[in-house]
Amino acid sequence: MSADRLNLRGLARTELAGLLNEMEQPAYRAKQIFSWLHQKRVSTFDEMTNLPASFRQSLAQRCTIGGVKVQKRLVSSIDGTVKYLYGLDGGDLVEGVLMGHRHGNSLCISSQAGCRMGCAFCASALGGLSRNLTTGEILGQVYAAADDIAPERIGSIVMMGVGEPLDNFENVCRFLELVSHPDGFGLSLRRISLSTCGLVDEIYRLAEKKYPVTLSVSLHAANDDLRSELMPINRKYGIAALLKACRDYFEATGRRVSFEYSLMAGKNDAVTDAKALAALLKGRGDHVNLIPHNPVKERALTRSNRETVLAFQKELEIRGINATIRRELGADLDAACGQLRRTDG
Ligand code: SAH
Repeated sequence: MSADRLNLRGLARTELAGLLNEMEQPAYRAKQIFSWLHQKRVSTFDEMTNLPASFRQSLAQRCTIGGVKVQKRLVSSIDGTVKYLYGLDGGDLVEGVLMGHRHGNSLCISSQAGCRMGCAFCASALGGLSRNLTTGEILGQVYAAADDIAPERIGSIVMMGVGEPLDNFENVCRFLELVSHPDGFGLSLRRISLSTCGLVDEIYRLAEKKYPVTLSVSLHAANDDLRSELMPINRKYGIAALLKACRDYFEATGRRVSFEYSLMAGKNDAVTDAKALAALLKGRGDHVNLIPHNPVKERALTRSNRETVLAFQKELEIRGINATIRRELGADLDAACGQLRRTDG
């Protein structure tokens, strides 16, 4: 296996420059190799035709060009949404979803194989965490989808697939830098959203990076008792600390945070919950994304009905909170929120 060889695709530009220096190669080769890896997206060193053959050989001896394998590709007959099941080295599977919106294609990707956050409603939590994805594997999901849909393009990325991105902090940051690099894939960080269950320390670490990404925070409850029941991370960082971190994130980056709130019947969907949520977010100018809950068969939680969802939204809006209901795509693929991987895995 390739485990002891370096995956060149996951190296930050400065790390690549360091490697070339160590291999006594001129500095300009970094740009050449970077372009082969991230723009032309070759899969072998032999295709890097502007490098001397002997250098290609030494690269092949110590490095790989790793990514992910598309194990399965499903297309929704309702709306054309594409779900990818990606295979990783070692046998783990993660998923990605490509959604066509009026403003372009948006790709949802995974950051970990499994998850250790233990949220009560989420399919990804069921088997716990297997491992973090490498930077090359996070990037590989984007490149596999980009190659699949070419000449169409990926216009935006959401990190909302399997895993907690801020629990794989270093690899996710390296991914953000690579995917947005002007000599590489070149996607603006403004077109990337990162969704977190609320790791407050890491929100501060991310704020220090000053990436202009959109931070989405999964809130799902407006009081600590219920949030702790649904999301164990709330026992470590309560709602007040989380909302303060979001405010500080906005101040550091100039980017407004958005909140996700999945509506579960009889759990968090009453008018009193909407009022409590509005009181929490009052005056902040943040956006709330209401997600109709996707029932997971191993869990008892069910979805709120349409009238309840609309009433919840209305209650927020009359209190000045901007709230949208997430459009559901690919409903026929039985694959929302971590389910594809489990039915197939
Ligand atoms: N760990 C990150 C990102 C992955 S989950 C996070 O917690 O945000 C992406 C979004 O889907 C989160 O808002 C999550 O709470 C939500 N989600 C998970 N399972 C769900 C389900 N069964 N139905 C609806 N939304 C769900």
